Amino acid sequence: MAKKKESLKGLGAKYGSTLRKRYTRVYVTLKSKRECPSCSSKRFRRKASGIWRCFRCGYTVAGGAYDVSQEARQ
Ligand SMILES: [Zn+2]
Repeated sequence: MAKKKESLKGLGAKYGSTLRKRYTRVYVTLKSKRECPSCSSKRFRRKASGIWRCFRCGYTVAGGAYDVSQEARQ
C-alpha cells in the first residue's frame, strides 16, 4: 500500500513546516485527476487561476484558484 506523501520535494527545508504542508495540500489538490462534467473525460484541468477547462471537449468553467469548487479551504 502506497503511503501518502506528507511533503513534496522542491521546497526543501525552506519556509517552515506549516507552509510546506499547506503548499503540499494545495499542490495535490491542483494536480489531482478530475472528471469533466460535460464529457466525463479525465482531461479536466486548471487552465489559469480560477479557470478550469476540459482539454478534450473544450468545456470551460469558472472555479476556485486551486480547486474547481470554491469551498473555503483553510
Ligand atoms: Zn470534456
